[in-house]
Amino acid sequence: MSLKLHIDTAKWRSSQQAFFNSVPGVVPVAKGNGYGFSIEVLAGEAVRLGADTLAVGVADEVEKARSGGFEGDIVVLNPWRSFDETATQLLADPSVITTCSRLTDLAKIAERAPGARVIVEVLTSMVRHGLTLDEVPKVTGELGSLKFEGWTIHLPMNGKLAEAKELVNAAVTAHHGTVWLSHLSMKDYLKLSKSVHVPTRLRIGTKLWLGAPDVLRSTAEIIDLHPVSKGQRVGYWQRKVPADGWVAVVSGGTSHGVALAAPTSGKTAKQRLVAVATGASEAIGKVLSPFTIDGKKRNFVEPPHMQSSLVFIPDSVQVSIGDEVDVQVRHTTTSFDQVLFD
Ligand SMILES: *Cc1c(COP(=O)(O)O)cnc(C)c1O
Repeated sequence: MSLKLHIDTAKWRSSQQAFFNSVPGVVPVAKGNGYGFSIEVLAGEAVRLGADTLAVGVADEVEKARSGGFEGDIVVLNPWRSFDETATQLLADPSVITTCSRLTDLAKIAERAPGARVIVEVLTSMVRHGLTLDEVPKVTGELGSLKFEGWTIHLPMNGKLAEAKELVNAAVTAHHGTVWLSHLSMKDYLKLSKSVHVPTRLRIGTKLWLGAPDVLRSTAEIIDLHPVSKGQRVGYWQRKVPADGWVAVVSGGTSHGVALAAPTSGKTAKQRLVAVATGASEAIGKVLSPFTIDGKKRNFVEPPHMQSSLVFIPDSVQVSIGDEVDVQVRHTTTSFDQVLFD
């Protein structure tokens, strides 16, 4: 009773390798749910690719990358905070590079771990983390015993070359070092790399792991099937089915990240409006599920349950318990029960 990810392994790896080889300085990113594959799996792939450096999101993920077999340098993308114990312990690890996003943290890091390897983040128009341009020239004076590994610049999605250039120039003028970029197009990254006289790195996850078409397939299983008649009330919320047909119970629910809303009842018009506003799908009436059965996406009977979903199938459709059906998922929010290397 599983939600499965099937990987055409040979194709997946060859497309990864081609992409990796085409981008000088690329740093694979393995964080969160590991883009649906797991951090451990991606760490193993990074080894296979020949990556010298891997990026993880938070300090607690370093251990997962290590258990996946990655022995090179690991960059933690989220900036260090004094209340993150794992991040603080890792400052002393000579193969971990810590991101520092505040001027005052440089001294704190140096005090806790003299010689720690750091990259210093510059604030971009995303306004997430980083030093302002006023603060950038002050970095040199704060580095102390720290090993400066460069500047990090995390742009908004489809970041603009002009913004990247301005920040990079200000940063490398203040202190010479590698520039680590995120979310710049390949074309702009290559342009920028040529125009600056420092080494550049580009952190990439989605395009590397999920970029190749027809390589990944997600499936669910039909685990139960019940004949229903038009108007019959079914499910947690006892909603009426629209016609004679079948209710299929399909593996894959909220715990896997299937659809977005957890069930709510919402009987009154006001509750329904609230439900619509908060994204609880049953209030909208017929809602297409991500499950394709007999060539068509089928409607949910109601919002997904924890580990399975109820979908309505018209009378004419031939299905059986045990059938595997395609399911459309968003890889960064899906936990698969099985990842299969075909
Ligand atoms: C997650 C992340 C990335 C990778 O993003 P993708 O869009 O998956 O390529 C790169 N840089 C930083 C700082 C990130 O947090």
